[in-house]
Amino acid sequence: MRVLVLGAGFGGLELTTRLSEVLGDETDVVLIDQSDAFVFGFAKLDVMFGKRDAAAVRNRYADFVKPGVQFVQTTIRSIDPVAKKVETDAGPFEGDVLVVALGADLDPAGTPGLLEDGHEFYSVAGATAARDVIDRFEGGRVVIAVCGAPYKCPPAPSETALLIHAHLVARGVREASTVTLVMPLPVPIPPAPDASKAVLAAFEERGIEFLPSRVVSHLDVERHVAVVAEDGAEIPYDLLLGVPKHLVPEVVAASGLAVDGWVPVDPATLETSFPGVYAVGDVTSIGTPKAGVFAEGQALTLADRLVALARGEGDLPTYGGRGICYLEFGDQRVAEVDVTFLPGQTPFGIFREPSAEQAEGKKRWASSRVERWFGSSR
Ligand SMILES: Cc1cc2nc3c(=O)[nH]c(=O)nc-3n(C[C@H](O)[C@H](O)[C@H](O)COP(=O)(O)OP(=O)(O)OC[C@H]3O[C@@H](n4cnc5c(N)ncnc54)[C@H](O)[C@@H]3O)c2cc1C
Repeated sequence: MRVLVLGAGFGGLELTTRLSEVLGDETDVVLIDQSDAFVFGFAKLDVMFGKRDAAAVRNRYADFVKPGVQFVQTTIRSIDPVAKKVETDAGPFEGDVLVVALGADLDPAGTPGLLEDGHEFYSVAGATAARDVIDRFEGGRVVIAVCGAPYKCPPAPSETALLIHAHLVARGVREASTVTLVMPLPVPIPPAPDASKAVLAAFEERGIEFLPSRVVSHLDVERHVAVVAEDGAEIPYDLLLGVPKHLVPEVVAASGLAVDGWVPVDPATLETSFPGVYAVGDVTSIGTPKAGVFAEGQALTLADRLVALARGEGDLPTYGGRGICYLEFGDQRVAEVDVTFLPGQTPFGIFREPSAEQAEGKKRWASSRVERWFGSSR
């Protein structure tokens, strides 16, 4: 069974690692990605706040070496979900099984003014540019603006508000600044009320203004105001950190796999409406948040399912919707939200208060992935 895996992010890396781990020499996997390195989403916050530089957060695919897995660095130009075949800059590839794990693309140009007068921080390049501006910032009105939904890592804008607060305090310019967060969710972490309560209390303590249930539609670059989509309200800024709109990658949109923007899958089996074609992670509309932990969990289930199917086993694993997210509170303290999304049920989560121990736990979580996927524990 040849498995063709499109995209080597959280989903693609875990899926191929697991297949290789279980099948050993029988593995026949081709993994395709256009990049030469994987970067954790949260590492962009590390870059923006000067904890690590852009080179240090790259995990090179040259170090991704697994029995039976061929990594090909190339751009996918078209996907044929009927033939389970793709065209790439390196030629055609096909599989008996096709897995789409191409994530969500960013569309900063989709918010007029964001590229000219604001700073998106969801890409490494954007986070690096924002770092330089934050380092020179002498105080003023900071606005963290989400420009569309859904977006990756729903807690990330709240983390950004808490981290910029800590950063401005450390630089002695917090008193000369205001911090405002604009986001589409009604509370910071809807599936975990205790987590939302703790984040809102932290905003209150730190004087962070929280404007929920709205997005920024555009920036008026002449007047430096962010305009709210829902009611046209204007929010003046001196520094605007933006979460851009997200889109399904163009190649997926053109393939016919996406419906209403994202790829629908059976939430238990992860199969799309095309037999033998599966999708995991941010590219889907499965109902879990767009976060690496969920992409990874889906990939793990799918790998075990594909192995069981290939072996003709009757008892096939199904996806359980659980993920553990870490939440930065600033000052080296991290909280944990353990949350489960099941179809037709209200998601439920357990919150663990921020602590230095959990900050260590987050580091261990990341380094264990680097070790598992790339064979070193950087
Ligand atoms: C600031 C920030 C903080 C975050 N914090 C967290 C966190 O703390 N915890 C968490 O779990 N998640 C976090 N996330 C979210 C997380 O990064 C994503 O949800 C996760 O990467 C999704 O995994 P994926 O496998 O679906 O897609 P991705 O990891 O995005 O991988 C998709 C891959 O497809 C490739 N690709 C796309 N199009 C093509 C093409 N045409 N040809 C070839 N290759 C292509 C891309 O190069 C990419 O490598 C954060 C994200 C951001 C931006």
